[in-house]
Amino acid sequence: MKKSQINKVFPFIFLLLTLGAINLLTAEETKQSGKINVLLIDGQNNHDWVRCSPVMIETLEATGKFAIERATVTKSRVAEFSPDFTKYHVILSNYNGDSWTEKTKSNFVKYIKEGGNLVVVHAADNSFPNWKEYNEMIGLGGWGGRNEKHGPYIYWKDGKVVRDESKGRGGSHGRPLEYKVDVREKDHPITKGLPTEFLQAKEELYDRLRGPGANMKILATALAKGGSERHEPVLMTITYGEGRIFHTVMGHDSKSMLGIAFQETLIRGTEWAATGKVTYPPVSSETLPVDSAASRDTKDIKSYPAN
Ligand SMILES: [Zn+2]
Repeated sequence: MKKSQINKVFPFIFLLLTLGAINLLTAEETKQSGKINVLLIDGQNNHDWVRCSPVMIETLEATGKFAIERATVTKSRVAEFSPDFTKYHVILSNYNGDSWTEKTKSNFVKYIKEGGNLVVVHAADNSFPNWKEYNEMIGLGGWGGRNEKHGPYIYWKDGKVVRDESKGRGGSHGRPLEYKVDVREKDHPITKGLPTEFLQAKEELYDRLRGPGANMKILATALAKGGSERHEPVLMTITYGEGRIFHTVMGHDSKSMLGIAFQETLIRGTEWAATGKVTYPPVSSETLPVDSAASRDTKDIKSYPAN
């Protein structure tokens, strides 16, 4: 090679080497950062996902603990939606829409079964009424034609979980209200750092959800005033194979997502789903009271303590 050719080629080689180094560094940094990798799925929902997803992202990012990627699966993108789920510690669903391809569904089931993890927020539990495995993962769901064939109504009564096989539609709600959340499982990592009762910001409260409810723990309930008048599950955990699932019915809109109840439980629930533990500092009843529904800007969310 002539010198003039070397001069032409060398900058290219240099560029390739540099890019390679940058890629390596990024991978290494991610590994060392100790961040939890999250894939947020949205793009279709009967709720305002366009406004809600950014609030969820800001909530998690404010803590400094989560690295979030977003897959926006609009109707025209469903056919090509085929992510490598295994790249993420946890999948965060804000999706209530068209069926994914059979290949993507089976990849997802395999991922969760083998120890992948999932967080389901509000109307994501309306999705996929007839995808059996998905309904096993989320425990309970509503709408989409759900009825007694999809599983019992599951709620809390006299200190116990009731599985009610009576017939009827799955999923309804009364008028929006500030609702009191009662923690029922006080020693779970998610609820351990929460007050035992607190108020969530005004929003609709799901009731009459139905589903298989297998391997499901109800962490907290709320009385559906003006709705079913039952103590309905609000925070749940489910295990599916090796996978951990956190299901919250909170989070109807971008305003109620500023409720401190929503924020604190989303952060703790997502960390738990991803890692099996919660290291986020406890929240006091001054910050998350029961006598008023506290909200705050996402920029006022505390970060995780430095290691
Ligand atoms: Zn809603």
